[in-house]
Amino acid sequence: MTLAVGFIGLGNMGNPMAGNVLKQGYAVTVFDKNAAAMANLVAAGAKAGTSAAQVAQTCDIVLTCLPGSPEVEALYLGAGGLIEHTRQGSVLVDMSSVLPTTPRKIQPLAQARGVEFLEAPVSGGVTGARAATLAIMVGGEDKVLERVRPILGAMGTNISHVGPIGAGNTIKAINNMMSSVNSLAMMEGMMVGLKAGLSLETMHAVIKDSSGASNALPRVHRALIPRNFEPGFKVALMNKDLDTFTAIAKELHVPISFANAAQRYQQAALAAGLGEKDTSVIFTVIEQLAGVAKK
Ligand code: NAD
Repeated sequence: MTLAVGFIGLGNMGNPMAGNVLKQGYAVTVFDKNAAAMANLVAAGAKAGTSAAQVAQTCDIVLTCLPGSPEVEALYLGAGGLIEHTRQGSVLVDMSSVLPTTPRKIQPLAQARGVEFLEAPVSGGVTGARAATLAIMVGGEDKVLERVRPILGAMGTNISHVGPIGAGNTIKAINNMMSSVNSLAMMEGMMVGLKAGLSLETMHAVIKDSSGASNALPRVHRALIPRNFEPGFKVALMNKDLDTFTAIAKELHVPISFANAAQRYQQAALAAGLGEKDTSVIFTVIEQLAGVAKK
């Protein structure tokens, strides 16, 4: 019998991820509180769910990809939520980036109802989501991962079981702190170069083969030169991930500094009303600070 897979949260990431599960031949039911987000998937053969509870009642495996901890906790733990409605023996997999405390709250409550739960946050951006090449950082029990591995394999090429519940979101927060710091270092460097008379193209061409290269560099052609700041990955979401990293570091008494420097820029972008833009929009904040204001 074909497994019935539910997918809730069809935004920049969830939409292409659900599309890749559908392409593997699974019977997929989708649900997003924004109905327009489901349209392309329904046109491609997915069933339109009528509510999260209905998806939970009718699917064997339910995947979620929501903004952060408040949305995930409300959906799983709230009245009429996933824990209440998921069938015994089913599996819930949260692929959102959240505080590690969120999956740690959900797992025991799911298990008490005879439902399995895994956290599986992802990295690779919208490009990786579309290409089904995401890195997936799984926290939870091995036997549960083995049940859902083929479905995760439809979305990513690098599935790592990193430890118990909470470990996946811990690595994810560390990754995003490093990614954010790399990006901001790159953008500050580019601004200094521009004011010194160098072009973005020249700096990219030289640095891509030099020791300053990082995964941040493709932003030069993807976002900085075309001035394309549509998400992608929203500033508000990166700000949340830096909050998560800082919360973990505080709990463990690790003094940190780079996350704080990076978050100053996220905060400045939020204050400028740019929270729904891609994180590369921070280049425009750096331009303002450097007195190179463009539109
Ligand atoms: P997004 O804001 O584009 O999408 C979130 C979707 O969830 C929206 O369509 C929204 O309508 C839906 N939603 C929210 N609450 C809901 C509810 N209660 N019921 C049903 N639908 C609901 O965000 P995104 O960029 O797709 O990111 C999703 C998660 O993946 C976040 O945790 C983010 O940090 C993480 N992430 C994003 C990227 C990226 O590049 N965008 C990369 C890796 C990880």
